[in-house]
Amino acid sequence: MNYNSFTAYETHDSLVNNTAKSEDVAQWSVAEVQSLLDMPFNDLIYRAQCVHRQYHDANGVQLSTLISVKTGGCPEDCGYCPQAARYHTSVDNQDMLSLDEVVTAAAAAKAKGASRFCMGAAWRGPKQRDIEKMTEMVRAVKALGMETCATLGLLKPGQAHQLSEAGLDYYNHNLDTAPEYYEEIITTRQYQDRLNTLQEVRNAGINVCCGGIVGMGETRETRAGLIAQLANLNPYPESVPINQLVQVKGTPLYGTATLDSFEFVRTIAAARVTMPKAMVRLSAGRQEMSEAIQALCFLAGANSIFYGDKLLTTGNPEVDRDQALLDKLGLHALS
Ligand code: SF4
Repeated sequence: MNYNSFTAYETHDSLVNNTAKSEDVAQWSVAEVQSLLDMPFNDLIYRAQCVHRQYHDANGVQLSTLISVKTGGCPEDCGYCPQAARYHTSVDNQDMLSLDEVVTAAAAAKAKGASRFCMGAAWRGPKQRDIEKMTEMVRAVKALGMETCATLGLLKPGQAHQLSEAGLDYYNHNLDTAPEYYEEIITTRQYQDRLNTLQEVRNAGINVCCGGIVGMGETRETRAGLIAQLANLNPYPESVPINQLVQVKGTPLYGTATLDSFEFVRTIAAARVTMPKAMVRLSAGRQEMSEAIQALCFLAGANSIFYGDKLLTTGNPEVDRDQALLDKLGLHALS
């Protein structure tokens, strides 16, 4: 090795191993996150894996099951969502499930190994009568010994406290994308509305589950902007779902150019490096992913998946297939 290549190696090695930034609460600029996304693939994955092993069980994966407690007919215009009333998709509207139906589904999910049960409803935000029903569901699912999560849209002041008193562990509310790209995707509410709901959730002492969607026609810089926004929340979310757009016929984003799979893996790795203690969830889009890409996502620091046959309305790999993949990779479920 000549002197020049040794210097290059040394400089590069310190970059790859530099986890110092991960350990404090330093802010991440968009440019810094983009420089992570720009790294040679192997270096980025190595760095993410080093961070991952520092903070997490290297081979543990948390399994969450998601159920739609109220489907379709939503007044919002999220360009990716088949549940928006204004788009003509194959999703059938479904009124709110009964308490019994939810508890039965939660018990079945627990029996198959899920430790967290997420309840989603297609609303702009819940009305008071909806919150009352949701708090009953949260209490009943908690009584089964599971962690609870809800995703109900924008929360009005006081609603997060009601959910917290019922024992809600996590509230999911995604930022979806970077602020500058947001209006391309949603016009019926503002980025700040989302941030306000996240603050309500934090103030109520509920853990935050917040991530985004990639593959919506955004640039790498936009993906860096999303990750920087998430990482700079103070504190950053406990749970960070990274979704790959599932293209549904009838939605405005149907027909968007498909994101390269390695770019998705890079996004997972950037989430892991910038939010070292968070559970990074490999979320929507897994059904379209090969086992090899999913394995790369785990290597890049994903340590949580949605587990079950269905997400809110789109398909998800069957439980048996997931279990076979976890077995093949020597991964175990976190309790
Ligand atoms: S993502 Fe949520 S808020 Fe947006 S249209 Fe779908 S159900 Fe409504």
